[in-house]
Amino acid sequence: MAPSYLLPEEPCRSLSEFLGAGLDGAIAAASKPSPLQLRQTIEQSGLRGRDHAAASVGKKWLTVAKAADVGTRFLVATATDSEPGSFVDRALIRMNPFAIIEGIVAAALALETSEAFLVVRRSFEREYEIMTNALAEAETAGWLERVSIKCVRAGDHYLLTDERAVLEVIEGRLPLPRRLSPDVDGLFCNAERGGDGLDRLPDFPNPTVVESIETLVNVGAILTNGTRWFRAMGTAVSPGNLLCTITGDVNAHGVIETELGRRLYDVIEEGGEGYLPTSPPKAVLSGVSSAVLTRSRLSAPLSWEGLAAVGADIGRAAFTVYGEDANMIDVAHQIAAFFYVESCGLCPACKFGSGEVTGYLARLVAAVGEQRDVEAINRRLPLISTGSRCDIPARHHEVVGSIVRAFPGDVSDAAFRRNEPGTPLVLEHIREIVAGVALYGTEQSHKRPDWSVADEPVHLTRI
Ligand code: SF4
Repeated sequence: MAPSYLLPEEPCRSLSEFLGAGLDGAIAAASKPSPLQLRQTIEQSGLRGRDHAAASVGKKWLTVAKAADVGTRFLVATATDSEPGSFVDRALIRMNPFAIIEGIVAAALALETSEAFLVVRRSFEREYEIMTNALAEAETAGWLERVSIKCVRAGDHYLLTDERAVLEVIEGRLPLPRRLSPDVDGLFCNAERGGDGLDRLPDFPNPTVVESIETLVNVGAILTNGTRWFRAMGTAVSPGNLLCTITGDVNAHGVIETELGRRLYDVIEEGGEGYLPTSPPKAVLSGVSSAVLTRSRLSAPLSWEGLAAVGADIGRAAFTVYGEDANMIDVAHQIAAFFYVESCGLCPACKFGSGEVTGYLARLVAAVGEQRDVEAINRRLPLISTGSRCDIPARHHEVVGSIVRAFPGDVSDAAFRRNEPGTPLVLEHIREIVAGVALYGTEQSHKRPDWSVADEPVHLTRI
C-alpha cells in the first residue's frame, strides 16, 4: 500500500502543525531549480490533472510557458467540488490547507507567474475561513513574497467544471463558457469595444493555467520527493495516489486516498467499509461524468487507462454505489434533471433537449410512461450536443444513455408500468459528511432551469 501524502492522519490547520508534521518543503524545493527544470520534472513525473480532462500537467505547462509575446501569465486553483457526490476539495482544505498553498506557490514558480487565484465555492463557508486563515499565516511566514494568491468565491454551478467558465467567474460574470481558450488567451482577455465601434482583443494574451487543488498538492509532493518516488505509486500511465469520495449503498461514506491502479471494486469496498445490502452492488456512478459502471466492470483497475478500457472514466472519482434495490430509471431521471437545470442555455439543443429527456424520464418514474418515451429518449439524447459550446451535453448523453442501455429490466418495468408511481428525486450536492454518513443540501431542489432560486422546491416537468 502506497503511503498517504495528500491527506495527513490528523488535520494540519496551523502552520506550526504543518511544519511539526514535516509536511512542508515544496516551496523550498521549487526555489532552487529553474522554472524550466520544474516544468520538466512535472512532465517526467507523468502527473495527470486531477480533473475531468486528466491531461498531462507537465506537457500543458511546457506548452503554456513556451508562448512568446504574452502579457501576464496566471495560475488558477479550483476548490469547488462541483461534481455531484464529490467532497475531495473540502476534505483536502480541512486536512491540508498549507500543502495547497505550497502547491500553488510551487506551480506559480514553475509557470513564471506571480499572480494566482484560488476559486472556492460560495457555500463552503468553513473551507473559505480555513483557507483565508492559512493564507494569512503563510503571508506572515513570507511564503507569498513572490506569488500573490487571491481568494475568489464562486456560485453553485456545475459549469465550474469547465475552465473557461471559471475564468468568467474570476472576471465577475456568470460561469458561461467563453469561446477564448484559457491556455492561449487567458484571463482578462475578452474583446473590448473601441471608439470606432469595433471589438478588439487586447494586444497580448494572458495564458492561464487552471488546476484543481488536488493536482497542485501532487505538484508540491513531486517537487519535494522527486519523480522516482511519485512513479513508484500507481501505474505507468496513471502514477500517484487519488482522492475518492465514496457514498451511496456502503457502510461508511467518506473521502479516501488510494493508490491508482488498484481494483475499483476493492477500493470502494475498503473505503466504504463494505457494500449494502449485499455485494456486489448493482451499479456505481462517478458523479455525472462517466458511463455507468455495472457489476462486471467493477473489476477494472482504478486508473484512467483501466476505466477507459471498460468504456468509463474516473471523472472526479465521486463514486456513488447503487445496491440491488436501486431503480436505475429513477437515477437516470435525477441525472437528466440535474443537467437540465445546470445547462446555461447558450446552446438551444442542450437546454431544450435536456428538458425533453427529463420530461420523458419523469413520465417513466411516475408510472405513466410507455415504450415510446424510451424511444424518444434514445432519439433525443444524441441530438442534445448539437452545436454545443462545452461537453456537458455529451456527458448527459453518455451517462443517461449508458444507464438506459445497461438496465433493460428497469427500462421495461418502467415502460410497461410494473412499478408503483415514484416521486422524482433531486440530485443534491453533499453538504457534509458526519460519522460516515453523507448529508445532502437542498439548493438543487430550489434551483430553476433559468438559475433563479425558488422559495419552494421546483417541479421541473408537467406529466
Ligand atoms: S452546451 Fe449546454 S452547458 Fe455548455 S455552454 Fe451550451 S448550453 Fe451551456
